[in-house]
Amino acid sequence: MIIAVDGPAGAGKGTISEYLAMKFDLLYLDTGLLYRALAKAVITQKVDPANSQAVAHIAQALTTDDAQDPDLRGEDIAAVASQVAVIAEVRSVLNEMQRKFCRSVKPPYQGAILDGRDIGTVICPEATCKLFITARPEIRNQRRLLETQADPTKTITEDGSQVARKIAERDDRDRARKIAPLTPAPDAIIIDTSDLTIEQACTTAALYVAECCRDQGALNANYV
Ligand code: C5P
Repeated sequence: MIIAVDGPAGAGKGTISEYLAMKFDLLYLDTGLLYRALAKAVITQKVDPANSQAVAHIAQALTTDDAQDPDLRGEDIAAVASQVAVIAEVRSVLNEMQRKFCRSVKPPYQGAILDGRDIGTVICPEATCKLFITARPEIRNQRRLLETQADPTKTITEDGSQVARKIAERDDRDRARKIAPLTPAPDAIIIDTSDLTIEQACTTAALYVAECCRDQGALNANYV
């Protein structure tokens, strides 16, 4: 079974996906990390993020292992990630990596869970269950700021309004792009986490996944 989780920055996709992966024994891929790993390589190699040919060339050398780099968080890398994410050739290379990841699932995993922006609409339109996780902008900004401040490896160089501006710019770019824009799949359930605790958000998502997979006979009885 495949679970697709999409939504804007700071809505709680990652936390919810990790929880669901553990609860239902799913192999997890945070697809944003692929775009971030590409952004890091583009920055390191001093390539112009608008140079589609050069960026696509770098994308071809990426593997899902590059998403393990612990140094991919932060809004500066994210900003470049969203710039390279508009390039069609880049998306087709990374799309294939994500589909390959889905095909690689073997027992003891029951399936895969992917989170990103276009999982339910483009990467896995046939997913067993689709979630779109969202939250009010001020809540998402606050969460990202707290995350940045809590990270001991990061020197804080940004205040709240800078983080908010960068997230808003990135969300606008992700929503407005022509290819695979951020939008809920028509059959996705929308969960607004603004007024939920982490535990409530995870439980709500897990109940939905259990119900949706049970209806489709995709879940082993032990997990229901
Ligand atoms: O999820 P995360 O915030 O790490 O993603 C970083 C950026 O990568 C996003 O703002 C978006 O531009 C891009 N992305 C994408 N499609 C995905 C995942 C991420 O375009 N499936």
